[in-house]
Amino acid sequence: MFHLTDQVALVTGGAKGIGKGIVQTLCKAGAKVVIGDIDQQQGAATAQELGCAFKALDVTSREACQSVVAEVVKEFGKLDILCSNTGIFPQANLTEMTEADWDQTHNVNLKSTFFVVQAALAPMREKGYGRIVITSSITGAITGYPGWSHYGASKAGQLGFMRSAALECAREGITINAVMPGNILTEGLAEQGEAYLEEMKRSIPTHSLGKPEDIGHAVCFLASKEAGYITGQTIIVDGGQILPESPEALL
Ligand code: NAP
Repeated sequence: MFHLTDQVALVTGGAKGIGKGIVQTLCKAGAKVVIGDIDQQQGAATAQELGCAFKALDVTSREACQSVVAEVVKEFGKLDILCSNTGIFPQANLTEMTEADWDQTHNVNLKSTFFVVQAALAPMREKGYGRIVITSSITGAITGYPGWSHYGASKAGQLGFMRSAALECAREGITINAVMPGNILTEGLAEQGEAYLEEMKRSIPTHSLGKPEDIGHAVCFLASKEAGYITGQTIIVDGGQILPESPEALL
């Protein structure tokens, strides 16, 4: 029903993990996709595998975000869809967390969202059309996990940012929404170790981790023309992880 034929999309953190799942889904729906990622080797390999373009991008640089968006517009003529997806999730308990840990997590996860959304808004406003989808998380906005207070704050912060930003663009044909993944099996999540992955499976009603394409499908919907009357909203994609009121649901 939905298609993104001839839509131009930029996906940050698209080299692997959830970002790659988003890229894959957008490509399948007909979009021309540009991956922006700090991992140049993997970014170029993913772009080749999926038949899209790659640009080296460190989202913690405002200048880099602006110049990558400008390059996309120069090469493809417009930018219809922005997926602000980059994120890191290093663990640090509060007794050990340094100011540098806090700043790095906020810079890559939250400040980057401001940088890349601000950069994308200029060409979107010119055309009077845009779809922005932010990858947030259930962690922070709904749930908590020891060691992720800085991460949770950055992910909840993205939603606060989104709501005001959505209002600023409401009459300009531009929507800003967010997906909130639960535990999705990505390269980044795998680094948490087998014990973590098994613990998570047991805490999800489906008893399974999500796949990157599960997030891609939700993003694809929010990125479609048909979702034009939805803005400032969230879709939780978590296999029901936030639902159980009692342990029986998890047996
Ligand atoms: P991932 O597998 O680690 O992939 C993230 C990609 O972003 C990597 O290619 C990474 O490169 C890149 N990146 C890191 N720092 C960057 C920077 N400064 N500029 C540009 N690119 C950068 O992560 P993921 O699990 O797919 O997570 C993607 C997003 O989903 C994040 O926002 C995360 O918070 C969110 N999320 C994930 C889960 C989950 O279960 N996986 C759950 C909820 C929310 P390097 O590998 O070289 O660092």
